[in-house]
Amino acid sequence: MARPLPEGFAAAVREVVGPEHIRADVASLEAYGQDALEQGHPPDLVVIPATTREVAAIARLCNERLVPLVVRGAGTGYTGGAVPTRGGVVVSMERLNRIIEIDETNLLAIVEPNVVTADLQRAVEKAGLFYPPDPASLDTSSIGGNVAECAGGPRAFKYGTTKRYVLALEAVLPTGEIVETGSKAVKSVVGYDLTQLLVGSEGTLAIITKITLRLIPKPPARATLLALFGDIQAAVDAVTALIRRRVVPASLELVDADSLSAVRDHLGREVVPPGTGAVLIVEADGMQSAVDDEIDRVADGCREVGAMRVSVAADENDRDRLWNVRRLLSASLMATGLLKINHDVVVPRGRVPDLFRVIQELKKTFGLRIAAFGHAGDGNIHVNLMVDRTNPRELARAKQAERALFERVVALEGSISGEHGIGFAKAPYIGIELSPEEIALMKRVKAAFDPNGILNPGKIFPA
Ligand SMILES: Cc1cc2nc3c(=O)[nH]c(=O)nc-3n(C[C@H](O)[C@H](O)[C@H](O)COP(=O)(O)OP(=O)(O)OC[C@H]3O[C@@H](n4cnc5c(N)ncnc54)[C@H](O)[C@@H]3O)c2cc1C
Repeated sequence: MARPLPEGFAAAVREVVGPEHIRADVASLEAYGQDALEQGHPPDLVVIPATTREVAAIARLCNERLVPLVVRGAGTGYTGGAVPTRGGVVVSMERLNRIIEIDETNLLAIVEPNVVTADLQRAVEKAGLFYPPDPASLDTSSIGGNVAECAGGPRAFKYGTTKRYVLALEAVLPTGEIVETGSKAVKSVVGYDLTQLLVGSEGTLAIITKITLRLIPKPPARATLLALFGDIQAAVDAVTALIRRRVVPASLELVDADSLSAVRDHLGREVVPPGTGAVLIVEADGMQSAVDDEIDRVADGCREVGAMRVSVAADENDRDRLWNVRRLLSASLMATGLLKINHDVVVPRGRVPDLFRVIQELKKTFGLRIAAFGHAGDGNIHVNLMVDRTNPRELARAKQAERALFERVVALEGSISGEHGIGFAKAPYIGIELSPEEIALMKRVKAAFDPNGILNPGKIFPA
């Protein structure tokens, strides 16, 4: 239940950041009350601090006056993480957006949280370095949000997700103390690993104000391959065949026919030849000779399991065209006008064929349109239940299908979220995957960081 802000609270916050960095008008409260999930509750106040000290002062005020505090990065999250569930204050990190240092000797970057992911990538690539995590939202999402969600992307197959690149953090505890975790060194085993505990903590344990990221040398060459298949089963078989051949390309993405037809309708032109039931987009990177060898092995593997056509991007424009289809998938599905209930389930790689069998079954059992695509190499598939939002019976069937999907994924030894986190959208389902003992332990960790429960309440744990 939302409570009004305590007397004098807004004035105290205004003192900290100055009146020009506070928003309380209806349009702003609505805008900061939504993320990509398009659900949630508007805050009572939006505060836009510029320094760690200001963030700490706001946290102290919220903690003393028991006001809910929700941290917001770029607001591209899919599970309502950056959105209040019952009012309070949204602390938007948008003014903490500087790349502080690119350290070419120690191969690291130090950034404030709201640097846009693609801006950091471009900046480090100019220095011949590489920051691999590449969520499809990279042109809009922030590094802070990526760290808080442990974002992944196509390149996670070879390079891992965001957590592999986080060396150190500066963070403000909900009680207002400033802590520095980790170090610039690539090894550190002193005490508990608080850095990795904060990675993926969805803004529920601390407010991240500075991030030290590990970089690697930029791979000198890359090549992208598109393989067309007559049906989804052949494409899934190709993924298994490639993994068995010990091919680990930088990315191995699968797109099904429903998703491809959404892109076609969105763009108003064919994106693949008629009769294509699924595609794989595969990218290899590294030294030129290794790239050539890997792409040949991928092409052979795809042909062996019956690919209709295999082609390699001739140049960067061609490559961009292929990846553009992949990047447009979410927008195209949204443009259908249907409600897109987006899940990012993940199964062990060898279970990807089973997961696609589950999806076929759910389509039949619940009479739903389901579009699936994603990081097949990691077993992380975006399963989108496409629902007529004006049809209550279809919405009810989608709810049942959602639970059935999660139960089946956990039975396949997978996880209900590989990338997007839990937020409030998936909180009712965590008991399908986590034991009561694990949930109780997590709640004790949460209480140790946030004894008054003011930071991002209503997230991760069911109410
Ligand atoms: C079109 C589209 C494509 C996407 N593709 C991918 C994808 O490929 N892979 C993927 O992983 N995700 C993807 N996402 C989801 C989303 O972009 C990621 O979860 C991203 O990491 C969120 O970053 P953000 O800056 O928008 O964070 P927000 O949405 O603002 O916040 C997300 C969570 O992080 C917390 N948070 C933000 N900043 C901080 C901070 N400084 N300190 C502490 N907590 C903080 C918030 O409280 C919230 O709980 C996609 C989203 C869209 C809309």
